[in-house]
Amino acid sequence: MTTAPLTFDVQLSDHARSAEERERVLASPGFGQHFTDHMISVRWTARDGWHDARLKPYGPLVLDPATAVFHYAQEFFEGLKAYRQGNGSIVTFRPDANAARFNVTARRMAMPELPEETFVRSLELLVQTDRDWVPTTEGHTLYLRPFMIATQAALGVNHPSDEYLYLVIASPAGSYFTGGVKPVHVWLSQDYTRAAPGGTGFAKCGGNYAGAFVAQREAVENGCDQVVWLDAFEHRYVEEMGGMNIFFVYGDRLVTPPLTGTLLPGITRDSILKLAVDLGLEVTERPITTDEWREACESGAMTEAFACGTAAVITPIGRVSGRDGGWTVADGQPGELTLRLREELVGIQYGTRPDPHDWIHKIL
Ligand SMILES: *Cc1c(COP(=O)(O)O)cnc(C)c1O
Repeated sequence: MTTAPLTFDVQLSDHARSAEERERVLASPGFGQHFTDHMISVRWTARDGWHDARLKPYGPLVLDPATAVFHYAQEFFEGLKAYRQGNGSIVTFRPDANAARFNVTARRMAMPELPEETFVRSLELLVQTDRDWVPTTEGHTLYLRPFMIATQAALGVNHPSDEYLYLVIASPAGSYFTGGVKPVHVWLSQDYTRAAPGGTGFAKCGGNYAGAFVAQREAVENGCDQVVWLDAFEHRYVEEMGGMNIFFVYGDRLVTPPLTGTLLPGITRDSILKLAVDLGLEVTERPITTDEWREACESGAMTEAFACGTAAVITPIGRVSGRDGGWTVADGQPGELTLRLREELVGIQYGTRPDPHDWIHKIL
């Protein structure tokens, strides 16, 4: 196996979009609908380890119908963004944390770990090559999607695949939820479960999402925007909101559910915990039930609730509904701390605020 750092073979696209076509996309990018001109691809085999590292034109994959990922969902991903700062620099936010989580997920999925420097290098190379796709509009970003799939063409299920493909694609992104920082109305999922102890809740695998769409659809059918996941045993303890972590605010105290293995350890969640301490807030990681959530809103003790993740940053939660009725969080409007933390985090990412934790990784 090769142990030397991988070097990427660079093959530039001969059909890259023109500046006009690109500007047309960047004027209204949406989220995850348009992709840049290039992608990263690295192969792994049991015999040769990681090899065949390439930057190449963005395009379809050709895979045998028996390929393992299609049948057993041996697949996972990461998500992070490149930001264009006011001085023209292009940066990412905590890519080393994504690299570390990538490998935590890889171990859970019985897939090979990727050296952290190769992960970070792959992002740098793709963003440098497709730098003109990093939006200049405030609040817009280039969303980066590293992922790994099992590529062995065989239907046997007694062992994991002996071949994998690591890929990175990039997509210019407007705001994730249309309509800015509008509070969301959430639906408590009392019938469906996202993750159970010993399962894959902490791993960023596609299978977690495949099982979640039906609950998200139920939320929408009940007039809500997003599903809130509860614990697998009693459906009492709050875990996450859709693909985002969740925070509760009691005056100047912040409460968030602990990382017990069923929650995805969000990098935004971790950053907010650290920023909150910097801002002099008290932070507690402890379980919270839906009964406590309702009672604390009724008594006025809970002043705000919000969800957080890379894609939408911080989103206020305005109202909660479930089978047994619903309640409003405070006055249903975005809370003061919610907006303050959002401004602080976005300010670090766009370089308008100091970066005391060294979270910014400069690419260009
Ligand atoms: C990715 C993800 C998050 C948020 O993680 P960030 O690192 O903050 O983007 C939260 N929950 C789930 C289920 C996720 O997949």
